[in-house]
Amino acid sequence: MSETQKLKVTLLAGGVGGAKMAEGLAALGNVELTIIGNIADDDNFHGLWVSPDIDTMTYTLSGRINRQQGWGLADEGTRALDILTTLGQDTWMMLGDKDFGLHIYRTMRRARGDRPTDIAADVAEAFGVKPRILLPTDDRVQTRVKTEKGWLSFQEYFVREKCAPTVEALELKGIEDATATPEALAAIASADLLVIAPSNPLVSIEPILAVKGIRDAVKEARVPRIAVSPLIAGKVVKGSADRMMTALGMRADAVGVAAHYAGLIDVLLIDHQDSVLAEEIAGLEIQTHRDDILMKDAEDKARLARVVVDLGLKLAADKDQNGAAA
Ligand code: GDP
Ligand code: CA
Repeated sequence: MSETQKLKVTLLAGGVGGAKMAEGLAALGNVELTIIGNIADDDNFHGLWVSPDIDTMTYTLSGRINRQQGWGLADEGTRALDILTTLGQDTWMMLGDKDFGLHIYRTMRRARGDRPTDIAADVAEAFGVKPRILLPTDDRVQTRVKTEKGWLSFQEYFVREKCAPTVEALELKGIEDATATPEALAAIASADLLVIAPSNPLVSIEPILAVKGIRDAVKEARVPRIAVSPLIAGKVVKGSADRMMTALGMRADAVGVAAHYAGLIDVLLIDHQDSVLAEEIAGLEIQTHRDDILMKDAEDKARLARVVVDLGLKLAADKDQNGAAA
């Protein structure tokens, strides 16, 4: 592929796991990366609109992320939050001093009536992010989690309750009225390769796919579609996807991930440790490719991204050959 002819990769991604994959793909010289992020974790805190997964993506791709945590800005403070605590506010949601600046800006622009898609793009540009960060919808969609403690907002479940309560049901509030952004649909339709990041299938990827028009666009895509499993040997690297899947009657392993993406992907990238699951996954009409899929550092991310892209190029060549033979 020549310098000018980059491979157009569109990545569906949540927060931390999604940003790791995005970072790897962004490091490849022959890839033009577009990300469709998750907005269903968004919520209002202290009068400000906070968009955790989109911010994790922006902070990661701008190199300003707190590397130890995987979210939030590096070199942060809690002075603003301390004042809110003094004022008697609930401050379980960690929002850093610098982070607050972005939430103020986002809230101001939304109050002005600007499209959330444009705000996210302007923030990414101002932060020096090269890949495009798109939103699946400009409408409000919020994940709600039913637990033994009743219905919780996603951040109440994830941050305040630290994923401890057993999940009984999930709901996407607002999904019926949400329409896909033309940018997201175009990014799926014009991609050379579609990738689903190793993000939580139920609360990071599902809220993207569930937006009217998006799942169908992925289904209809004629280009290779590859997902990377967020589960390795039946366990998450971080978070609660495994427990959530078990609680909701799914298998908490790569087979459960494959079943969830059946009809949407051609290949699931699984870990070497999960080789024994390949046959079962094949039964779902999904091929598997085995590799080390744990990303510990920048090299791991770039290496895994290279594996995904090479696999995509090989699948595209195979499709071409089959097309020519038919
Ligand atoms: P969140 O929105 O911040 O919770 O993050 P995501 O939904 O994007 O990603 C969470 C998922 O990423 C979890 O299920 C993790 O198991 C998965 N994950 C995190 N790091 C890695 C990794 O290095 N490799 C793989 N395969 N999965 C990972
Ligand atoms: Ca998230």
